[in-house]
Amino acid sequence: MAIRLLILGGKESGTGAALLAASKGYDVLLSDAGTLLPQYKEKLTAAEIDCEEQGHARAAAYAPELIVKSPGIPDSSPLVAGYLAAGVPVISEIEFAAQHSKATIIGITGSNGKTTTTALTGHLLKRGGLDAVVAGNIGNSFAQVVLERDPAYAVLEVSSFQLDNIQTFRPHIAVLLNITPDHLDRYDHSMDRYAAAKLRIGENQTASDYFLYCSDDPETNTRVNASTLAGQRIPFALNGPFERGAWVEDNQLHVNLSLNNQQNNFSMSIYELALQGKHNIYNSMAASIAARVLEVRKDAIRESLMDFRALEHRLESVVKVHGVDFINDSKATNVNSTWYALESMDKPVIWIAGGVDKGNDYSQLTELVRKKVKAVICLGTDNRKLHDAFSRHVDLMVNTQSMVEAVRMAYHLSNPGDAVLLSPACASFDLFRNYEDRGWQFKMAVKAL
Ligand code: ADP
Repeated sequence: MAIRLLILGGKESGTGAALLAASKGYDVLLSDAGTLLPQYKEKLTAAEIDCEEQGHARAAAYAPELIVKSPGIPDSSPLVAGYLAAGVPVISEIEFAAQHSKATIIGITGSNGKTTTTALTGHLLKRGGLDAVVAGNIGNSFAQVVLERDPAYAVLEVSSFQLDNIQTFRPHIAVLLNITPDHLDRYDHSMDRYAAAKLRIGENQTASDYFLYCSDDPETNTRVNASTLAGQRIPFALNGPFERGAWVEDNQLHVNLSLNNQQNNFSMSIYELALQGKHNIYNSMAASIAARVLEVRKDAIRESLMDFRALEHRLESVVKVHGVDFINDSKATNVNSTWYALESMDKPVIWIAGGVDKGNDYSQLTELVRKKVKAVICLGTDNRKLHDAFSRHVDLMVNTQSMVEAVRMAYHLSNPGDAVLLSPACASFDLFRNYEDRGWQFKMAVKAL
């Protein structure tokens, strides 16, 4: 008898899981509280998958034996809570996909830097000649990848929501980049619970697996040290050296892994890294360790760290206009990522910030703003918190209501040799559809100058 599988949520991960499940002979119902987007509906219809839209009436009567839940739906939603109470297992899409995959998994999580590090690691492995595919939160679901062709290596961007519902998910290499407050609303505003979800990336590892973590991040370091994780712990940090780990010394990035009792060193100048900024040194170290664990050749690692192209909306250099650099960091939706953006600036900055504040504590930025920012352009429907935080520390603060206005104002205030940085530290939903829309509008406005 086919297993009755209920899939909740019909976007990227739900659709991928449904297609994979159908191909594996499950009896599938996919249920979405909203309307299915055409691109997903088309695929589901073509595969003759039973779907329900605009509500969960059929899902509530389905009597499933297993549920695959979209990361966007909390366990506390009535339908999920009801089935959980009735003992029905609820898993996430990466768990489901991993159960049907033989790929060696490299799982990457953290509060910031996941997409960058996932893309970079994928680039290193592919350049090193490995059959690697990048998937997960980065865009394409792991389930869809497994359905099409199970690769030898899967580099997965994994969110804490996906980790909330794993059972056996076991990356051979797990990467924990950092833990800073974000999405705390989903964890009863408890940092302990949020951090615990992140550490779950290593919970099924054994001594033959690797757990890579940023030991400079106090929250990560403390929690990893206090944990019972069984994987081999490999730290990366700006200060080393480590017997096994990665660090920076005299502007050289070093990776040292004694694997199979062989000394295994790699080093290169941090000035050669394609991705600049302190945060990207961490990301580059994590990716390099992963590549060395998988025995990618050192020259392939070096070359790919040098030629990796920065991702859109992440400290992306847009263009220089009359000597003024315009930088799109629209993906910076929290204070921590903006901190790294400001930290990496080596020119006077005109900073475009604001949007939907997720309970931001701006005090962490005060010092950098005093040192580097000459004007703050507030771009949000409510800019009071930004004014309260920074009006004493910068000469000029201006309110704007649209991206075009913000970019023109920034340009007007700039001198050759300055940088205009869009790094909002906030979500985008007041004035934009999402962070991509915000980044694109920025780039369009800059190009129209
Ligand atoms: P995520 O996928 O975790 O949201 P991204 O790679 O998309 O991460 O980057 C999000 C933002 O965080 C960008 O603004 C980027 O500049 C910044 N960032 C990237 N890596 C790090 C890091 N290791 N620590 C802190 N901030 C980072």
